Amino acid sequence: MHGAGGDAGWRFDNSYARLPEQLFSPALPKAVRDPSVAVFNEPLAADLGLDPAILLAVAEGIFSGNALPPGAEPIAQAYAGHQFGHFTNLGDGRAILLGEHITPDSRRVDIQLKGSGRTRYSRGGDGRAALGPMLREYCVSEGMHALGIPTTRSLAVVATGEWVLRTTPLPGAVLTRIAASHIRVGTFEYAAAIDAQGAAPAGTTTNHPPAQQGATPPGLLPALLNHAIARHDPTLAATDDPATEFLGAVVARQAHLLARWMLVGFVHGVMNTDNMAVSGETIDYGPCAFLDAYDPTTVFSSIDQQARYAYANQPAIAHWNLARLAESLLPLVRGDEEAALEKVQGVLAHFPELFERHHLAGARAKLGLITQENGDRDLFTALLGQMHEAGADFTTTFAALAGMAESGAATGEPWSLPVFHDWSTRWLERLKRQPGSLSEAATRMRRVNPLVIPRNQKVEEALQAAESGDLSVAHRLLAAIRAPWIESAENAAYRAAPPRGCGPYRTFCGT
Ligand code: AMP
Ligand code: MG
Repeated sequence: MHGAGGDAGWRFDNSYARLPEQLFSPALPKAVRDPSVAVFNEPLAADLGLDPAILLAVAEGIFSGNALPPGAEPIAQAYAGHQFGHFTNLGDGRAILLGEHITPDSRRVDIQLKGSGRTRYSRGGDGRAALGPMLREYCVSEGMHALGIPTTRSLAVVATGEWVLRTTPLPGAVLTRIAASHIRVGTFEYAAAIDAQGAAPAGTTTNHPPAQQGATPPGLLPALLNHAIARHDPTLAATDDPATEFLGAVVARQAHLLARWMLVGFVHGVMNTDNMAVSGETIDYGPCAFLDAYDPTTVFSSIDQQARYAYANQPAIAHWNLARLAESLLPLVRGDEEAALEKVQGVLAHFPELFERHHLAGARAKLGLITQENGDRDLFTALLGQMHEAGADFTTTFAALAGMAESGAATGEPWSLPVFHDWSTRWLERLKRQPGSLSEAATRMRRVNPLVIPRNQKVEEALQAAESGDLSVAHRLLAAIRAPWIESAENAAYRAAPPRGCGPYRTFCGT
């Protein structure tokens, strides 16, 4: 292994690797046989202050793990997590954090390889990833970003030229992931569990004060909290009770994120606490998918037998996950045990209210509303109820609203169905009760109701073509999902809902 890409603009400063060593384990990416770049995200490279042309010349080496960028200090991060409700010790079993790159505008971003070989936390796994799922993460995260939803990004997918053995042999790949951080709810659960086992050095109390800069008390939790606050909420470091304030900040970010997911019909599919980032970015695209026909009970993942992570359950699950974060942070919350418990419960109790506020604001925007009336929540819920009954496609149903506001007429599926008539009359009346013209409302709606989302079947087509060596389908898909608001001849095929009756879509985890 050798360094490469020295003049591409890398500026590493690896603060996570300076944390107590139980939080991670040094781990080198394992070299691959015959790397070739499948996709490279030039606009993202430029946004990170990296020279796309220089980087592309060394991309096969760097983004496969065969070479390290200068300044990288590769580690695997330790974490735990509640998987489908059960606590487990995990860690990066197939991912390696190269370090933190500082962008020219002073953002600190994690650069992580996924599928780069075994680590100390691999358990029985091979540490590898298949091309299909890595391209899936690349495409769906690009789609989420284009929709304006906080998410980790993907810088590259490099095919390894090796096979990974799943139920069948599949072409292998390494994904390079960019994130505000990879600190998960499960990272705090891990730190809390280790500290509680007494593995922390003597002198740690169960209720030590939060650390001030330069004076970190012993234990993993205070160090992790300081680190997370420095990265995501630096203004909280000087508050009286940073642990409680930090919990509040994470609660607020997740309430916002969950509202955004729900408003575009996104189903994450595996909302285990290890797959929830404290940064508020969508992370770990596994069995995720977007709703086609609206059905709140939708589950795509083949392993989610109990429908724990069904579309409509997501806000409640996020709340449950945040309670696990709260429990983990309790030892750092100021005050005696009872007071601390009361405080975190108070913070957690805000979640439903914050979610509702974001969701209602987003729902109003989807309907073109700029004023507030008491009946607005019901107007939105009534529409969803009818969409459910009619099996209406989530994305195209909302996308049609702008045209209807302009023409004043309900046309096309599902709007021409008689059951939608009363609703559309009610909605048009509501629109007319607010200032501004209907065409202005239409313009606003076109900015929030996407025409293009990464449709499940389209993503699947792109992955299948890629697996047989044709990446052109993935490139066309990416071009379409990167411009979700614009109607063009090129994206016509990506706007359409799948034909009715094409059967339930299934996604698979752990590939
Ligand atoms: P995920 O379902 O992708 O969130 O993964 C859950 C846990 O399993 C994480 O700790 C992963 O690092 C680990 N894992 C998943 N796939 C593999 C693999 N092929 N080899 C080693 N660890 C894996
Ligand atoms: Mg995960």
